[in-house]
Formats: sequence, structure tokens, C-alpha cells
Amino acid sequence: MYKPTAVVTGGAGFLGSHLCDRLLAEGFKVICVDNLITGNINNISHLSGNENFSFVKHDITNYIFLPGRIDYILHFASPASPIDYLKLPIQTLKVGSLGTHKVLGLAKEKKARMLLASTSEVYGDPSVHPQTEDYWGNVNPIGPRGVYDEAKRFAEAMTMAYHRYHGVETRIVRIFNTYGPRMRLDDGRVLPAFVGQALRGEDLTVFGDGSQTRSFCFVSDLVDGIYKLLLSNETNPVNIGNPAEITIQQFAEEIIKLTGAKTKIIYKELPEDDPKIRQPNIEKAKKVLGWMPKVDRSEGLKITLEYFKKVITP
Ligand code: UDP
Repeated sequence: MYKPTAVVTGGAGFLGSHLCDRLLAEGFKVICVDNLITGNINNISHLSGNENFSFVKHDITNYIFLPGRIDYILHFASPASPIDYLKLPIQTLKVGSLGTHKVLGLAKEKKARMLLASTSEVYGDPSVHPQTEDYWGNVNPIGPRGVYDEAKRFAEAMTMAYHRYHGVETRIVRIFNTYGPRMRLDDGRVLPAFVGQALRGEDLTVFGDGSQTRSFCFVSDLVDGIYKLLLSNETNPVNIGNPAEITIQQFAEEIIKLTGAKTKIIYKELPEDDPKIRQPNIEKAKKVLGWMPKVDRSEGLKITLEYFKKVITP
């Protein structure tokens, strides 16, 4: 039986590797493309020897040559944590712009459907709450987060241009904060930061006064939403995330309780342009995809904690 072929750029990253797993489980052939600057080969090492899986080490800002038929491209290559894109500002801008252009060129050539991983960062520090897909955002183009936010906004624009002008089949997911196994302990994101600190017996570093909010989605829910979007007919952006909103102060308290750490919370300076509030409105995903998150935070955090306990060096 014919197996559809999917390319996952950034396939050795946190989200990309979970997508590779899901696509293989659904009967796809998967080609993972990653330059491994923030991805990690360990995330896909369990797939070596799988005849339906292959790995190509490549920087997609350069021309992508892949022989044979390709049916789907899921474009997940990009540094994606604030620490990573502060360390890699030019690569972040290049992969969102030049990389997305190359991926769309490949999709056009192969007549493949391309799904772009976009982000809640396109909404910036939002003045509409919860964020709906028709909100255009409040982004500082020259701030430290601008390299990521503007790259993804450009990527959305480029994707829609290829869709409208070249008739390429495209999908755009706006991903909100997601957590789960295979997150990098050193990526600077709040969850690995807090869990790492708690497990090492260090104080938890809350930035600002901790009143800023985020809404955390477990990775299996996110992947499920993305898979449904890939197979849907929706060409405009769709938010995927878990609307359960929490302050960062409450989140730190939850992690201390969950880990049983004998540590306290200390306060550090709030990074520039750190969004004050963030919560997805997921009415569109519910209606169009019949999707909603199933894993609540207490369950998801338990699974994630078990993973971090295994990888952490005490
Ligand atoms: N944060 C924090 N302490 C940390 C790391 C992050 O208080 O050690 C805060 C950060 O300022 C932000 C929130 O946690 O308000 C989420 O940060 P993250 O880097 O995970 O992602 P963001 O949602 O900002 O892209």
C-alpha cells in the first residue's frame, strides 16, 4: 500500500521529533531534516533502523534537494526559546525568512502540502485577550524578541503569498507555550528552568513579579491538533494551545509542590518585551478541527518531571 511521505524540518527538535513519531504511527514515511543547531539527534535516535524513517542533516536556508515524491512538508525548523533566539538572532531571522522560502519552493516543486509552525509570538504583547486568530498583534520589531516574532510574521506572509500566487496548499498553526518530554533542560524556557532548579535544590528564578501569565499545553495534545490541521481544509491560521492560564508565580509554586523541593522563589529582572498575558482562544480549532486539549497540567507535569529526572545530572 502506498505510504504518503512527509518531510519534517526541525524534525530533531522538541516538537519536530514528536511529530515524526506521530506521522510514523499514522503510516507515513518520514524524512527528518535538521541542522542540529538547537535540535538533538538523541530525540530521534530511537527511530534509527526504522525503514520508513530517514534523517538528512541540512541547513534549510540553503537549497533543499530531496529526490522522489513528497506529499507533506511540516516546517518546524527554528530556534524557538527566548534564550535560543537571543543567542542565534541571525539564524532565527534566516530560517524564518530564507528557510521558509526554500521550503515553499520545495512544496511547489513537489506539489506537496506545506504546514508552517507559527507562534503566539506573532501576537506580541497582546492587547486582545484571549488571543483570537483575527488579532494582528502588538510586536516590537527592533526589540530582542523581534528576530523571532518578525521572522514568523514574515513566514506567515510568505506562506500566504505562495498559497495565493502559486496555489500551493498551505496550513498555518500558531503554537502557544508547549511542554513535555524532550524539552532541552538548558533552553531557558520557564518549565525546564524551574524543574531543573527544583531538582538541583536551587532557588526558582521568577522574572519580574511573576504576575505575567502563560497557558501551557502538553505536547501530545499539540501534536494531535497539528495532525488534524494538516489533514483539514483550513488555510488560514489556527491557534493550538491549552487555554488553562496561570501566572508564573503560581507556576513556580506548583513546581515546588510537585517536586517536593526545599527551595524558595527569588525574583530577577523581567526580560525586555516579555508578554504580560497569553492565552489562546481555541474556538476555531474546536469548530474547524473538532480538537481540544485533553491532558491537564497536573498529569502533563508528572510525565514531564519523570523525563527530566532521567536526564538531569544531580
Ligand atoms: N520566566 C521566569 N523564570 C525563568 C524563565 C522564564 O520567570 O527562569 C518567565 C518569562 O519571563 C516569561 C515566562 O516565564 O514571562 C515564560 O517564559 P518562556 O521563556 O518559557 O517563554 P515565552 O512564553 O516568554 O516565550
